[in-house]
Amino acid sequence: MIQLPFSKLSNIGTTIFSQMTQLANEHEAINLSQGFPDFMADSELLNFADHFIKKGFNQYAPLGGMMGLKEEIARKIENSHHTIYHPDSEITITSGGTQAIFTTIATFIKKDDEVIIFEPAYDCYEPTVELFGGIVKRFEMKAPDYEIDWNEVKKLVSEKTKMIILNNPNNPSGKILKENDIQELISIVKDTSILILSDEVYENIIFDGKQHLSICKYPELKERSLLVASFGKLFHVTGWKIGYCAAPKALTEEFRKVHQFNVFCVNTPIQLALAEYMKNDDHYKKLNQFFQEKRDFLRNGLASTSFELLDCEGTYFQAVKYNQISDQNDIDFATELTIKHKVATVPFSSFYKNKNNDHVIRLCFAKKTETLKKAIDLLSKV
Ligand code: GLN
Repeated sequence: MIQLPFSKLSNIGTTIFSQMTQLANEHEAINLSQGFPDFMADSELLNFADHFIKKGFNQYAPLGGMMGLKEEIARKIENSHHTIYHPDSEITITSGGTQAIFTTIATFIKKDDEVIIFEPAYDCYEPTVELFGGIVKRFEMKAPDYEIDWNEVKKLVSEKTKMIILNNPNNPSGKILKENDIQELISIVKDTSILILSDEVYENIIFDGKQHLSICKYPELKERSLLVASFGKLFHVTGWKIGYCAAPKALTEEFRKVHQFNVFCVNTPIQLALAEYMKNDDHYKKLNQFFQEKRDFLRNGLASTSFELLDCEGTYFQAVKYNQISDQNDIDFATELTIKHKVATVPFSSFYKNKNNDHVIRLCFAKKTETLKKAIDLLSKV
């Protein structure tokens, strides 16, 4: 058998999301682990997709994406954040948020460049930086508040710092950045050439009337930022794998040099369908309310259990602490919860390099009421 010369990611296995979904399927557990809706997307959107496929729009799109969709994205950003991205030269349609993140890192990170991330961190940041020879510097946000101590972040900055990766709202903690966080960030980067990769895929899922502070609202940040968003999260179609990257022209030009050899372009009829659907702003404006009802349904259902509900300001994930139930580590606890109690979740330690065990697990509430009800019943018996 051929011997592999080396592994570029020797410590990496299959993602925790795939592992937990597989475990859920094997044990016929309710799957609140991997973040995806178990309900249908709007039939209007599905009909648009059907229409454009059948009309024959099935060949390559331009490498930056279909103009109609990029114009709708620019309009959405302008309405939401009062700033303009030029649709042709500053917005690129990608194959989901993950590809936009991968391509951004591939474009700008080379050997020994340092990249600051905030943990708990979404799983693809660190391995992708390492693939390109970069070095990850971590700031650990701690349970139960997951606040950022910016004085500590400052200590991570050096002459080699090339990029800071933000995830706002944060998956898995559900926390959002506040105005003082943004001001601290501005003070760190303002006289530097540090780039920002801002993963804002949950930007439209924010609760209790709070505001999403997108990086693009702040000129000092926008000029150095690549903003990543996802239609999977926005319109309940995670399997369509489509999102975008918005960035100033010079950054977009570099991004597209890599994007063209990475995927070249993204599927055409779906871009046309999304462009049509986005003409109605109500579709994304009602998302906060829609998911807030689900969050509250889950929180109310778990209120009388021994699970401690942590703050959830955004995303479709609820973090819960289970230390009143068990002192097992979170991987063992989540495994037992799936096998014995038939509810699959994600252990928070998978979002930390050092596998911190704070006895916290993540529950996805992008589910039908009926699914959430079943999960609440099962969790009430733990
Ligand atoms: N973003 C999804 C989550 O956090 C998972 C996506 C994936 O499975 N890679 O659960």
